[in-house]
Amino acid sequence: MKPNFSFLFKLLILQYLAVLSISQEFDFFYFVQQWPGAYCDTKQSCCYPKTGKPSADFSIHGLWPNYNDGSWPSNCDPDSVFDKSQISDLISNMEKDWPSLSCPSSNGMRFWSHEWEKHGTCAESELDQREYFETTLKLKQKVNLLRILKNAGIEPDDGFYTLESISEAIKEGTGFTPGIECNRDSARNSQLYQVYMCVDTSGSNLIECPVLPRSKCGEQIQFPKF
Ligand code: AMP
Ligand code: AMP
Repeated sequence: MKPNFSFLFKLLILQYLAVLSISQEFDFFYFVQQWPGAYCDTKQSCCYPKTGKPSADFSIHGLWPNYNDGSWPSNCDPDSVFDKSQISDLISNMEKDWPSLSCPSSNGMRFWSHEWEKHGTCAESELDQREYFETTLKLKQKVNLLRILKNAGIEPDDGFYTLESISEAIKEGTGFTPGIECNRDSARNSQLYQVYMCVDTSGSNLIECPVLPRSKCGEQIQFPKF
């Protein structure tokens, strides 16, 4: 029988596409920290977690796989559900450094499970669930934004600062240019909301960002009290 090369070729292409879609590679992570004062100071407001008001420090929003072209994958593996038994010994640090501020008041599980399912499952080629949360907590220890900003005289005192002064201070303090995202308070003031640092695919080393997120910041940025 004559081999059907066209059929075999199509089969090969299909197999290649299947491998591509399973491995879901990515280029780098955004490690995103959030100023709780800015999350709460909006029209929508916030709810403190059941453990009480978080400390006045930056908290973790997430560790997000991204592509160099500015796009990103999400919800990569519906079969990989959030399993709190894998991170039971990390919970007290997560409550401290990764608190949930959405309403109604929550113990964090809903927020962490959302972050794992939307973003973490896209990094499974590099980090399993435990490693994903452990790595993110370690990054928070490495990048102490509040200390860096305070050292530069930039404090959460409801004062206004330029985007450049905030960005320069973080560049001085970490060695890398951050992405800065602002939101607006109910009086429409632009305020410091989230800081993006780029991290290599292993989750251990800061890198220069291949692409920066949209800042949405005005000229003068308020650093709200919390
Ligand atoms: P935004 O509309 O910018 O507030 O983003 C809403 C949500 O989209 C974020 O909370 C993220 O979950 C997701 N998102 C935005 N930008 C990125 C990004 N560069 N990488 C991964 N997720 C993102
Ligand atoms: P992502 O899609 O990963 O950014 O997450 C976006 C969702 O997380 C949105 O529904 C946000 O309102 C929510 N979110 C952002 N920051 C927090 C926070 N500190 N606590 C709870 N939910 C948050």
